[in-house]
Amino acid sequence: MKTAALIVAAGSGTRAASASAPPKQYARLNGVPVLTHVLRTFTNHHSIDAVVTVISAGHRGFYDEAVAQVASAKLGPPVHGGATRQGSVLAGLEALRDQDIGLVLVHDAARPFVSADTISAVVSGLAEHAGAIAAVPLADTLKRSANDGLIAQTVVREGLWRAQTPQGFRFTELLDAHRRAAAEVPETAFTDDAAIAEWVGLPVLLVADSAANSKITTAEDLRLAQQSGVAWEPRTGNGFDVHRFAPGDHVWLCGVRIAHTHTLEGHSDADVGLHALTDAILGALGDGDIGQHFPPTEERWRGARSDLFLADARERVLARGGRITNVDVTLLCEVPKIGPHRTAMQTAIAQCLQIDTGRVGVKATTTEQLGFTGRREGIAAIATATLLLPL
Ligand code: MG
Repeated sequence: MKTAALIVAAGSGTRAASASAPPKQYARLNGVPVLTHVLRTFTNHHSIDAVVTVISAGHRGFYDEAVAQVASAKLGPPVHGGATRQGSVLAGLEALRDQDIGLVLVHDAARPFVSADTISAVVSGLAEHAGAIAAVPLADTLKRSANDGLIAQTVVREGLWRAQTPQGFRFTELLDAHRRAAAEVPETAFTDDAAIAEWVGLPVLLVADSAANSKITTAEDLRLAQQSGVAWEPRTGNGFDVHRFAPGDHVWLCGVRIAHTHTLEGHSDADVGLHALTDAILGALGDGDIGQHFPPTEERWRGARSDLFLADARERVLARGGRITNVDVTLLCEVPKIGPHRTAMQTAIAQCLQIDTGRVGVKATTTEQLGFTGRREGIAAIATATLLLPL
């Protein structure tokens, strides 16, 4: 028997949406739709075997865009929902009916910060209980008001919890409960699945969850979620480059022109430091290397300034919705002396990448007169870049 996740995404989400913006479950969060985060978390979870999303027929374009960035064989075709949340869940359950599902976790598409631990805890709760739901014990004091806006009563908060999702149940029991509810009470009678389970007498366990797994309901919620940066993935890449000395009077190193007894030979300005750094960023992205994007066989790159290559790597990070956390370059050479130029190099790199100079390391070392750098035949550089990409 399999465990399925049923993602409820059929709502119109009008409270967070403006006329031109998509509904909240399809709004952008860290570069991808909110629903994409949810689908990635559930499809990546080892206890979940199948994931089905209930959508509004009118949102098919938004849905296709959201799933284009989820690579998983667990993801089934979407199901069209009903007019209410309750109707949508029933439609999803009916669609899963013949798929050998033992347990089902119902989850709101507008809760993108659900954690793998919460999913595990809900699944564990189902080992001994008919239902288990993620919930948060109330921390605030509750007031009941009459229509005049004045406090009529303080409600004792002891024993009160705020229900979140996922809400897990034995599949057949939840399907039966929903069918009975559809036949016997109005579709708006229950606001979550636990309420339907309670109504038919199923015991439901409260699983302590994080308040971070909150629902994006208003435009304010969306803005706060967009600022929170919870769902980022750190990426690290390295780069290495060598250029040989040739007759000349200056070198370019880390974006700075330095007078010297020789120049560095290369198709572009031969800035070995920026080349290594560009490759480090491309490496962190898993997006080829500098030679692939700027082939030395192409005449248009002859004599090109290497900050152009670095800026292109930055653009690729931005295009993925990511940001550069820090970079670090080490130059290996006997000459020229790097120390006097270090600050200018940090500034040049920081300006090109549009990050703070405190996020840019520039270091240099000799190789104790050993090897080609020690014999002053050329300069080598190694670089590391750390990025944050949306999950
Ligand atoms: Mg190079």
